[in-house]
Amino acid sequence: MMATTHVFVGLVLVAPVAVAAPDLATPLAVGAIVGGLLPDVDLVLTHRKTFHFPVLGAAGAVSAATLAAVAPSPFTAGIAACAASAWIHAASDALGGGPEMDPWTNPSDRAVYDHARGRWIRPRRWIRYDGAPEDALLASALAVPAFVVFSGPIRTVVAVALAVSLGYTLVRRRLVEWTPEWLE
Ligand SMILES: [Zn+2]
Repeated sequence: MMATTHVFVGLVLVAPVAVAAPDLATPLAVGAIVGGLLPDVDLVLTHRKTFHFPVLGAAGAVSAATLAAVAPSPFTAGIAACAASAWIHAASDALGGGPEMDPWTNPSDRAVYDHARGRWIRPRRWIRYDGAPEDALLASALAVPAFVVFSGPIRTVVAVALAVSLGYTLVRRRLVEWTPEWLE
């Protein structure tokens, strides 16, 4: 799944809370955006392993959400949204393809690393690869509620992220030809 799809999932996840507590909407949205992007920082380390916690991340998300419920504040709400969004990102990576650049010729059997069991989870390929047409469709469907619920700069971020997603989808398969060997 595209980084932007992960961001939209996080935003839709916190949207009902943002509707119920409008004064927390901005920290919730910022937390969801950061959490949706954060795991993929491990691209420079062991991608889909170092910062991806598809199983253990649930404990972090539940703890942070409990703390936010007991002591609601912009800070605790933002942290909870970030933890939940990062966990869902890692868990949903198992539903996509592997991290390879060209999954149509060279599919991988490693979707995301399960630190609890100490092994890789295999890709389900519901979304065959990041930037696949079904990925763009999912991103577009999620962007609608995110755009409706949030306002101001967050709404602008949603619109720009959707435009980037659709542009990326259009060139995704050609990217493999353009990417130098060493970068893949
Ligand atoms: Zn990821």
